Amino acid sequence: MIKAVRGTRDLLPPETALWNFVEEKVREVFRAYNFQEIRTPIFESTELFARGVGEETDIVSKEMYSWHDGESIVAGLIKGWLQANPTATAYRQSTGLMIMRYEPDFVAQLNDGLVVLDVKSRPSKAAVDSLHEYTQFLREHTTDRNAGPIRSILVFPSRANVPSSVQEESERLGVKLEPVEYEPSQSLTLRPENTAGTVRAYIEHKLWDRGLNKLYYIGPQFRRERPQKGRYRQFYQIGAEVIGPASAGSESPARDAEVLEMLATLLDRLGISDWTLELNSVGCPNDRAKFNEALRNALEPVKDKMCADCQRRAVTNPLRVFDCKVPEDQPIIETLPRISQFLDEGCRAHFEAVKAILTKVGVPFTLNDRLVRGLDYYTRTAFEFTHGALGAQNAILGGGRYDGLSEALGGPPAPGIGFAIGEDRLVLSLQQKAPAESVVRKPDAYIAPMAAMNGEAARLARELRRHDLVIELGDESFRLKKSFEAATKAGAKYILIVGENEVKADAFALKDLATGEQVSVARADLAAKIRGERKP
Ligand code: AMP
Repeated sequence: MIKAVRGTRDLLPPETALWNFVEEKVREVFRAYNFQEIRTPIFESTELFARGVGEETDIVSKEMYSWHDGESIVAGLIKGWLQANPTATAYRQSTGLMIMRYEPDFVAQLNDGLVVLDVKSRPSKAAVDSLHEYTQFLREHTTDRNAGPIRSILVFPSRANVPSSVQEESERLGVKLEPVEYEPSQSLTLRPENTAGTVRAYIEHKLWDRGLNKLYYIGPQFRRERPQKGRYRQFYQIGAEVIGPASAGSESPARDAEVLEMLATLLDRLGISDWTLELNSVGCPNDRAKFNEALRNALEPVKDKMCADCQRRAVTNPLRVFDCKVPEDQPIIETLPRISQFLDEGCRAHFEAVKAILTKVGVPFTLNDRLVRGLDYYTRTAFEFTHGALGAQNAILGGGRYDGLSEALGGPPAPGIGFAIGEDRLVLSLQQKAPAESVVRKPDAYIAPMAAMNGEAARLARELRRHDLVIELGDESFRLKKSFEAATKAGAKYILIVGENEVKADAFALKDLATGEQVSVARADLAAKIRGERKP
């Protein structure tokens, strides 16, 4: 049996009703704050994440699903050649030169060979010459007298035209020219998060022309983490970004507070009331340089007593020491300097303003100066919402300001703030409160057609569905007993019987499956009757 890949899972009904419930509420709340949806591709160039998330992070250094897309010409040629010559080996040279042979130690024993020069553009006379030269070299150094011919091939994209001088030169030297259709190979990655993609789109489409952008996304993300409850390799994030030129107000503490207040509202509306907002300011790059130095100094005498990860972090990225969960390290971490002691005047004032607005609108928060986002372009406000019921994986969402990200990706300055909610964890929290069934809308009625009544039943179903009723349509081959069983299993409120007599009378037997009460209702009154009965 083929199963879903480790770390991935199927979301099945009725659980998907909870996912729909969450997404509907999210869209409703985000709309009230004037956010609009963005959908970026599921895969992007690997470089985007290397630059946009950071080479140093766990995500980029060990958790990405990356692959090379598109085949280099030479790779294609080798594959064909190796298939035809199973005992052969191929060598690739950094110059794009390819030598293939049968025996080990090719210089001594080359008895049939192919030399390929792969040029990425229009072939030049120099390319033909160097290929020929190399082929000659191999011929001269072959000691085996029975050595077979060595073939030389120059491959190039078929779009590139060949100058006649190159054509002539290659004929003279016996070099075969071989145009190949190809798409240059590139490294691609399944997105591990959606901020980098959003900022890429902001730059690519010059979204600064629109002033302040308030964008949100809902979709799958991929990280090769060790799967456990609440942690998957394909998981879903709901996120939003406020980004734009500083002149559009993107840097204002009012935006930070608005985003945080929106999140508090969303969680409350979803019925997740026991959340905690942990808040910190990580300052600007200037503050952090000083802080990093202070941390390095403070870690120097103690780092040997810490876990292996922290010893590495102490050297590469001391800020990340604060991510450490090893209990023995905690007393040491408690003594380390905190970023809050290093904030410059601007950052301090910005943070004070965010806190003042939150207090004013009544959103409670806890200051946590251990909360750091480890990337260089993260600035100022950093936050996390946690939820006790989730246990070890208790962070439902995280976010912060990233005023330097656009520039890190080659765009113009574009301050921004955003967050990502783990939708899987959000749904998990909700499940602990209410079973998925409670949000599933069950059929209002099950239509049971008697013999030869499928057509009439379908007509009636069509009419009732137009009234926004949920109708399950049965089949004329079912005996009445089987229809009742199917209606009960589907959780329908009523069963509606469509027989020859009913059609003639234009009135149908409607039975309440809970009370057993049965009445005959005229076609024109059916929808109202079914809906009316639904009211408490
Ligand atoms: P991050 O992008 O790492 O800041 O994560 C934001 C949120 O996404 C976290 O707070 C989690 O709720 C969720 N999340 C991150 N990684 C996973 C995962 N592997 N499985 C499920 N949820 C995740």
